[in-house]
Amino acid sequence: MANVAKCSMHMDCFANRDGRCGCLKDNDFGGRDCPFYKSSRDMSREEIEASCRAYTESHGGNGS
Ligand code: SF4
Repeated sequence: MANVAKCSMHMDCFANRDGRCGCLKDNDFGGRDCPFYKSSRDMSREEIEASCRAYTESHGGNGS
C-alpha cells in the first residue's frame, strides 16, 4: 500500500480525503504551512496535482 500523508490542517483542501492527502506522500515542511494548500476553487485541479507530483518526484517519490 502506498504511503499517504495525514492532513488535518486543511480539511477543505482540494486534495484532502478524510484527513489524508491524496496528492503528497510527504507533507512535512519543517513546521511551515503546506505550500500546496488550495481550496478547489483557487486553481484548476490539474495545475495543483501537477505541482504535487513534481514535488513528490523531487523528493524521491516516496517522501524521503
Ligand atoms: S496538499 Fe497540503 S494542505 Fe492539501 S491535503 Fe495535501 S498536505 Fe494537506
